[in-house]
Order: sequence, then C-alpha cells, then structure tokens
Amino acid sequence: MIENLLPICYILAAAGFILAIKWMNTPATARRGVIAGELGMLLAVVGTLLRFEVVNYQWIFIAFFLGSAIGVPLAYLMPMTAVPQRTAISHAFGALASALIGTAEYYRHLPHGFPMGALVLETLLGFLTFTASLMAFGKLQEILPTRPITYRGQNIVNLTLFVLAVSIGIALIISPERTWLFPVFAALSLIFGVLLIIPIGGADMPTVIALLNSYAGLSASAMGFALDNKLLIIAGALDGSSGLILAIIMCRAMNRSFSNVLFGAFGQVQVTAQKSVERPVRSASAEEAAEMLDSARSVIIIPGYGMAVAQAQHKLRELFDVLTRRGVDVRFAIHPVAGRMPGHMNVLLAESDVPYDKLCEMDDINPEFPMADVALIVGANDVVNPAAQNDKTSPIAGMPILEAYKARTVMVIKRSMNPGFAGIDNELYYLPNTLMLFGDAKTFVGGIVKELGALVRN
Ligand code: NDP
Repeated sequence: MIENLLPICYILAAAGFILAIKWMNTPATARRGVIAGELGMLLAVVGTLLRFEVVNYQWIFIAFFLGSAIGVPLAYLMPMTAVPQRTAISHAFGALASALIGTAEYYRHLPHGFPMGALVLETLLGFLTFTASLMAFGKLQEILPTRPITYRGQNIVNLTLFVLAVSIGIALIISPERTWLFPVFAALSLIFGVLLIIPIGGADMPTVIALLNSYAGLSASAMGFALDNKLLIIAGALDGSSGLILAIIMCRAMNRSFSNVLFGAFGQVQVTAQKSVERPVRSASAEEAAEMLDSARSVIIIPGYGMAVAQAQHKLRELFDVLTRRGVDVRFAIHPVAGRMPGHMNVLLAESDVPYDKLCEMDDINPEFPMADVALIVGANDVVNPAAQNDKTSPIAGMPILEAYKARTVMVIKRSMNPGFAGIDNELYYLPNTLMLFGDAKTFVGGIVKELGALVRN
C-alpha cells in the first residue's frame, strides 16, 4: 500500500513544481503558482517520509522543528528589500545540505561508477555554492565590501583551483577507495566558491544569485542520480534550468555578458562610488507637482528601489485612482532589474492592487515616452540613467533603460542627490525638462494625492 503511495506523491509533487513555474510567469497567476509549489513540496516531503528506508522519525522531527524555528521568523521578519540576501542564504543552506548528503553517502557506501560521478558533481557544486552564496549574502548585506576585489593573475588562480578540484574529483571517481582525497576535494570546492564571488561587484550580484540558484538545482539533480531519487532529479533540473534562464534574462537586462559573470573578473567593470558634483537642479513642491499632473493627459510612473524602501506602493495606487478618475491615462513602466530582485516592482504593485494591464514592460513602454506629458519617477535612479546610452565609459554603459528623459516633463521623487545602486551620478536630474521632488516617496506621493484632492474640490 505505502509502496504505491510513494510514486503517486512524487508524480503529484513533480506536477506541482512544473505548474508553479508556469503560473509564476505572470503576476495574475503568481499566487496560485506559489501555492502549487508549496503543495508539491509538502507531497515530496510526505512521500519521502513514507520510504521504507526511514526507520526512525525522532531526529527528523527534531531537525524539522529546529529548521522551522529559524525559517518561519526569517520569512516573517525579513523586510521585502532584503529578499535578495535572504535568497542567497537559502541557497547556501540548500547547497550545504546537498553537499553533506553527498559526503555521508560517500563515506557510507563508497559508490562506484556512475553514482560516484553524480556524487562528485553534487558535492563539488554543493560546497562551492555554499561558500559562494554566503559571500553573495555578505556583499548584499554589506557585511563584506560590495566593490569587486581583483588582483593580477586572479583568473589563472581561480582556473587552476577549479581544474585541481575537478581533477581530484575524477581521481575519486576512478578509485573511490582513496578516501584521503575527499577532504581535499571538499576544501578546494569551498575555497573556489569564495574566490568565484570576490571579483564580482554589487551590480552583478543579482545575476550571480540566479546563477547560484541554478548551481544548487544542478547539485540537487546530481544528488537525485546518486541516490536514485527521481523527484530530486526533476526538481533539481527545474531549479537548475529556471535559474539559468533567469540569469540569462537578467544579464541581458543589465547588459552584463554571461561569461563575464560566470568567470568573475573577466573584463568586469569596476563600479566605484562617484561623488556628485554640485550643479543646479530645478525642484518643485507637492502642490506644483499636483497641478502639472492634473493638467496632463498621459502619465507614466516609473517605480524603483526607493518605492520599496518607502513602501510607497499604496500611496501610488491612490495617486493612480485620483488621476484615472480625472481622465488621465496612467501607466506603470517596469524595468526588469528595478528594485533589488527580479519582479520586485510587480510584487509590490500587485500588493496594492494596481491593475496588471497597467504594468508595462520596458520594450512596450519605451516608444510611449515621447507622447507622455509626465514621467513620474518614484525612487528609481540607475534604470532611468541616460548615461547607459550616452556615456561609453559609464559602469552601466549599454544597460537598457526606461527612456523617461523623452517625456515632456520628468519628475523625480527622491530624498537627495545621492546616487543609486551603481554609485554614479544621473544626468537626467540636470536636464531642463526635469523637476526634482525632494522627499520620502511615501510622504511626497501622499502630499500630491492630498493636493490633487484639494484641486478636485476647487
Ligand atoms: P537605484 O538603487 O538605482 O536607486 C534608488 C533610488 O531610490 C536612490 O537614488 C535613492 O535616492 C532613492 N530612495 C531610497 N530610499 C528612498 C525613499 N525612502 N524615498 C524616495 N527615494 C528613495 O534603484 P533602481 O530601482 O533605479 O535600480 C536598481 C539597481 O539595483 C540597478 O542598478 C540594478 O542593477 C540593481 N540591482 C537590481 C536587482 C534586481 O534584481 N532588481 C538586484 C540587485 C541589484 P535617495 O537616497 O536620494 O533618496
């Protein structure tokens, strides 16, 4: 009876994972996707606990309660803006689990042939993803320096270390009995993970996280081959391939070359904080901004990281409602890497119930800017910086941007003249058609809504 339940659980779990990825493709079905993924994981866990090899539940439940005691508060207390580093630390733990299972399997069974090959791949990827993810966490949390750290001959050192680890791995596949080699192999993999991330700057970190996601998935898939567990093979392959596709999409969105990210320091860009030169800008009050918005026919709102920091999405929804009631056409322009994680803006705007059909992707909205009366930038900076198009020496040169500067009037809500994530000045702020609206995004948008309300009553 139980033997029959296991494959059913696994097939349903695999279906849940596949549907989860399919549904998470668009904001309209994303919530359903999350639930499908959660149910899939529940079935996978229940199915695994039913396996005849599990003879004692005591330690499993202790680990379960310990893990939940850490995981549940982490999920509730971690702010939205810290999701990238939370994802990095989740990868670190997942990869460590995979590497440790591989290590235990090795010492218990000394497998030969194909299972040993899978085990070597699993532990190599598992250990290197563990330390690489910890490094990514440290950089994003700013515990470690976010700038790239480079030195002469770095690529040769990294490549030598990697080749050495792979060679020892091959030696272990040929003769698994040489157990003394395994700790050396594990140590080299751990060190390689650290060295892999050191030369990569903060601006490339989101892509690196997607890539580490892919490595953790491949490690889990290899573990499936080593343990002969089909669900692990499926789930790991899904994780590995979706992480890789996301990394490629993000590379394109940030104009970073994929091999550059993969091999760290190859041709990488030095991102250094630039102090903005004192230059005059035009600024305006909430009242003036409200008057201009009131007389506009078409407004494009560009949210960025500052909207997330200020939690201004609900006020923006109010602004959308007020302007729409007054017959203004309002749309939201979403840059693929606005904020600090893929889909960051979509998630926040969906939370405040902005209609999905008003969220426009970069390629669709860019031709619309010349026709827009106002481009209202709310806490975005790098994703609207014209330097990406005009300045070949800029660290973000070639990155596709939202062409807000083409709108008749540009309004920028931010607190100061400080730069954004890439640490560079923004020429947009000094253009004659730009008005700076200095203040916290939530407070300022709230102020505009209030002023518009007063205008309506007049
Ligand atoms: P930026 O980081 O370029 O700029 C955000 C701006 O928001 C800052 O200039 C800041 O200016 C302003 N801001 C901060 N807090 C507030 C507040 N409370 N109210 C109003 N404004 C505020 O963000 P973008 O979204 O334009 O660009 C994203 C950047 O992050 C890109 O460089 C991207 O490569 C990178 N990145 C993207 C990831 C992703 O997957 N989406 C992940 C990691 C990095 P001030 O301090 O003056 O208020």
